[in-house]
Amino acid sequence: MKFLSNLHTHTLYCDGNNSAEEYIKRAIELGFISIGFSGHSYIPGTLGEDWGMSEEGTLEYIKELKGLREKYKGDIEVYIGLETDYYSGYKKDIKEKLSLDYTLGSVHLIKNDTTGEYYSIDSSPEITEEGIKAFGGVRNYIKKYYETLLEMIEEQEPDIIGHIDLVKKFNSDNRYFDETEEWYISLIDEALDKIKSSNSIIEVNTGAMSRGWTNFPYPSKFILKLILEKNIPITLNSDVHSVENLDYYFDESMEVIKETGFKKIKILKKSEFQDIEVK
Ligand SMILES: [Zn+2]
Ligand SMILES: [Zn+2]
Repeated sequence: MKFLSNLHTHTLYCDGNNSAEEYIKRAIELGFISIGFSGHSYIPGTLGEDWGMSEEGTLEYIKELKGLREKYKGDIEVYIGLETDYYSGYKKDIKEKLSLDYTLGSVHLIKNDTTGEYYSIDSSPEITEEGIKAFGGVRNYIKKYYETLLEMIEEQEPDIIGHIDLVKKFNSDNRYFDETEEWYISLIDEALDKIKSSNSIIEVNTGAMSRGWTNFPYPSKFILKLILEKNIPITLNSDVHSVENLDYYFDESMEVIKETGFKKIKILKKSEFQDIEVK
C-alpha cells in the first residue's frame, strides 16, 4: 500500500537542502494527497542556531507556504506546520498565534540541571558520549530524554510526536544500551501510557534511515507493538531534508505497520487527521 502524504519536511529555511516548491513538485509527481512543512522552530539563544529558523525566517516561511498552498491548490493539499523543539519555549497556543495547521513536537536536546549544560541527542556520537558522561551513565541520560519528551507533550500538546525514540540514533550496534533490557522497556511502557492520555499521534519516521544511521525507522518494532496494544494512533513521515528522500522507505514501512497488526493510520486530509485503512 502506498502512503500518500508526508508532514515532516525541512526546507532551506532551516537545515533542509531544498525549497518548499521543490518538495511540492516532487509530492505531486508521487501522487501525494497532502504535504506538510515542519521547519525547525526558532530556539532563543544559540542552541538551535545551526538548524532552527530565525524568528523573522519563521514569518517568511509561513508567508511563502501560504502562497504555494494557493498556487498548487488544484494539485495537492499543502499544510503549514512547525517542528516545535521543547526548548523553543512554544506552548500549545503557538498554533493559533502563527495560524499553523499542525505542530510536530520534538526533543532534540536535554538539559543537565546541575551544570545548566544542554546536550544534543542527535548531532553526533561524540556529543552523545559527552552527554552520557555528564548524566552519570546511559540510564540517567535516556531517562532524562523521556522525561523531557513527556514534559514537551504536556506543554505543547502537539498533533504529532517526532521521532519518539531518538536516543537510538547512534546505537544501531548496541554500543550504548540494549533496547531489550527491562529498564528500557518499562521506561517506554510508562511513557506510552502517558502519551495514550494525550491526543497526540506518534510518527513512524524514516529520517535516520535515509541518512544511514539506523536500519529500522523510529520507533523500534517492540515499541510499535506496544503502541498498537495501547491503541495509540500513528502516521508515517520521512523527516526529509533532501527532496529525493520524500518517500524514503515508505513502502517497506507500510509493510512493517501492516505486519505489526495496525488496521488504520492517520493522514492529514481536508484539514483533518483522518483514519485510512491499512491494506
Ligand atoms: Zn527532529
Ligand atoms: Zn525533523
